Amino acid sequence: MAVVRTGLGTEKSSRLKRRNVFLCLGFIFVIIFFCEFLLYYLVIIQCHWPHLETTTSPHPTSPLKAMFLSDTHLLGEITGHWFDKLRREWQMERAYQSAIWLLQPDIVFILGDLFDEGKWSNSKAWEDDLTRFQSMFRHPPHTELLVVVGNHDIGFHYEMTVHKLNRFEKAFNLTSGKVVSRKGINFVLVNSVALEGDDCVICKAAEDQILEVSRRLNCSRMKNHPDFMKKCRSVHLLPPSTPILLQHYPLYRKSDAECTGEDSASPEEKKVLFKEQYDVLSQDASQKLLKLIQPRLILSGHTHSACRVLHGNVPEISVPSFSWRNRNNPSFIMGLITAEDFSLGKCFLPTENTVIYIYCVAGVLLCFCAVIYLLPLNVSFYTTKQKPI
Ligand SMILES: [Zn+2]
Repeated sequence: MAVVRTGLGTEKSSRLKRRNVFLCLGFIFVIIFFCEFLLYYLVIIQCHWPHLETTTSPHPTSPLKAMFLSDTHLLGEITGHWFDKLRREWQMERAYQSAIWLLQPDIVFILGDLFDEGKWSNSKAWEDDLTRFQSMFRHPPHTELLVVVGNHDIGFHYEMTVHKLNRFEKAFNLTSGKVVSRKGINFVLVNSVALEGDDCVICKAAEDQILEVSRRLNCSRMKNHPDFMKKCRSVHLLPPSTPILLQHYPLYRKSDAECTGEDSASPEEKKVLFKEQYDVLSQDASQKLLKLIQPRLILSGHTHSACRVLHGNVPEISVPSFSWRNRNNPSFIMGLITAEDFSLGKCFLPTENTVIYIYCVAGVLLCFCAVIYLLPLNVSFYTTKQKPI
């Protein structure tokens, strides 16, 4: 009789043990699913397009829904550790795909430094990085993705080459100094790395293109001017709307000392003065751009931190990095834009601290449960086996 009881007890306890193991595995699966998938939707669903006053235009059009993000810095094969790469790329892909699905933007702009090692990578590494980028930032056909070039994509001025610029522009169907017009809104996309002003081959071409864009914009504004036919006869006209300037380097500012907000630079970083043509554009290039393009809004990246500065009465928004490698609290800008007006808001992604905190709490709970539910079963198993002796 004792032997039979022991057999039943052993079977029961091992069934209980199996059930508890499955419960633990289920708990681990739920935590991973929450942190790596659901959390992005739960956080981004709280973001809303900013309010835009209805326009007084006689022919109002629906505003363009634009998302602006920057500095994704996909890691390359030289300095990128495989786990760092895997983790950051998964985070960015989930955040981007959740945002595209929930917010349904018309257009997305990435303001440079898409890649970390575009400045060094050989053809094979470049193709590999590009394929991963295209997979991570895939989008439905009704959403357009446009990019501007950054110093990590083609190198700083001293390491930038025609080959690196060409392969970037070919991959993204882009030309420096390009105007993109959507719903009557003009976006000017500038290669700010080439605004060194030293007449290098790439710099000269970029400046010529900016001059051409400036001419087209001016002609588009002076349609009713008496000199219009004389000056603008052969010019391909644009919508007569004041443009929005998009580039990687910010226009010249002394430092980030005046920047505010939870995702602005740290107090230590704010004390550091910016280096012209390295951290920001030179004063000369900044003045030239403002004069030639006469934008109503500027958006730039590169600093990885948020800032809002005024150049005269023109606001410039520094868009923080979209990668958790550069920030604990990445974000992107959401803009409702018409030909006359715009309204901007910011959408924060989940913070990395939240994810680490959830994993730590789950880990402690799991250890606690293991001690409570799994250990006693082992003890009772051995105890039951000892009984017949
Ligand atoms: Zn940069």
